[in-house]
Amino acid sequence: MHSSLFNESFRIQTWFLTLLCSALAGCVGVPTGQEPAVVTRAQMQMGTLVKITAVARSESVAQAAATAGFAEIRRLEELLSTWIPTSELSRVNTSAGVMPVHVSPETLMVVQRAIQVAEMTDGGFNIAIGPAVDAWSVIEGRRIPTESELEALRPLVDLQAVHVDVGEQTIYLGKAGMRIDVGGIGKGYAADQAVDALRRAGAVAGVVALSGDIKAFGRLPGGKMFPVGIQHPRKDGSVLAWIDLQDEAISTAGDYERFFEREGVRYHHILDPRTLQPARSCQSVTVIAREGIWADGLDTGIFVMGAELGMQLVEALPDVEALIVDHEGHVYVSSGLRDRIRKP
Ligand code: ADP
Ligand code: MG
Repeated sequence: MHSSLFNESFRIQTWFLTLLCSALAGCVGVPTGQEPAVVTRAQMQMGTLVKITAVARSESVAQAAATAGFAEIRRLEELLSTWIPTSELSRVNTSAGVMPVHVSPETLMVVQRAIQVAEMTDGGFNIAIGPAVDAWSVIEGRRIPTESELEALRPLVDLQAVHVDVGEQTIYLGKAGMRIDVGGIGKGYAADQAVDALRRAGAVAGVVALSGDIKAFGRLPGGKMFPVGIQHPRKDGSVLAWIDLQDEAISTAGDYERFFEREGVRYHHILDPRTLQPARSCQSVTVIAREGIWADGLDTGIFVMGAELGMQLVEALPDVEALIVDHEGHVYVSSGLRDRIRKP
């Protein structure tokens, strides 16, 4: 199994996709008259199940659009994945403490956004978390790193030592052993870019879902928006709330995605950069934003911040909404979302 980036189970929100497919079933196939074609396809990418639905004037255009979406995600994986040794970010990581690495404008931008999200979330989001993620990614082996092991890694989880030089177009990690990990923001960005690829290929509407990172554009044939269910963090396969999306991204960070339990304690894959332990304030954080890169970065950062500070941040940001389930299971809904969600 890959160590850090984009690792996760495949069950998140597959029920949403099931539902979407059945809603679309009447439209799949060769269109009659004006009726658009709808194609839904799934593939494993970025270590997760990616599902793309494309709506277009003909089936061949819809198929070509879906193909373009998958190709775009593959391209980004080659830039951003830390388990592909030749990726740009892998090269940045292996050059930590040695030298700056020249990267594409796109990689530079993703890292800059990640640093912005870190500032917005008071350090809750931190892409320098890489070494700690690796220490815990023994999750498959169900091993808990010792305090002293984590203590030794602490100096490496230092965002101040991530040097982005826009002029030179380089990234330099100032200390040997540092590693950046964009697993908390990269899938949202990939959803954004795949949607653009679908559009360029002629799709008039569609959805790109990298498990819990989803972006929708346009409307379903018949004029309906795309329905998305928010997973209940403690009831497997059960929906906490429904929301309809159009030209928006939704992203969920949850402690139920990858976890194990030991002596009644849940260990999961979102780490608090202060303690380097799994963050404890929330069960799940769902963020809705115009762009997936923001929705994905913010969900992870707010998960660490906790419900109260997280909601304050969301209320202060235009075009950003959230549904937060805190550690006791209390549900918080941002003001702009209250009239939009439906109970199952
Ligand atoms: P996913 O959709 O893969 O569950 P999330 O958006 O919930 O992703 O982010 C979790 C991933 O982000 C982890 O697997 C890890 O790679 C990385 N990560 C963990 N903790 C943090 C953090 N505090 N800041 C930034 N990234 C993190
Ligand atoms: Mg995230």
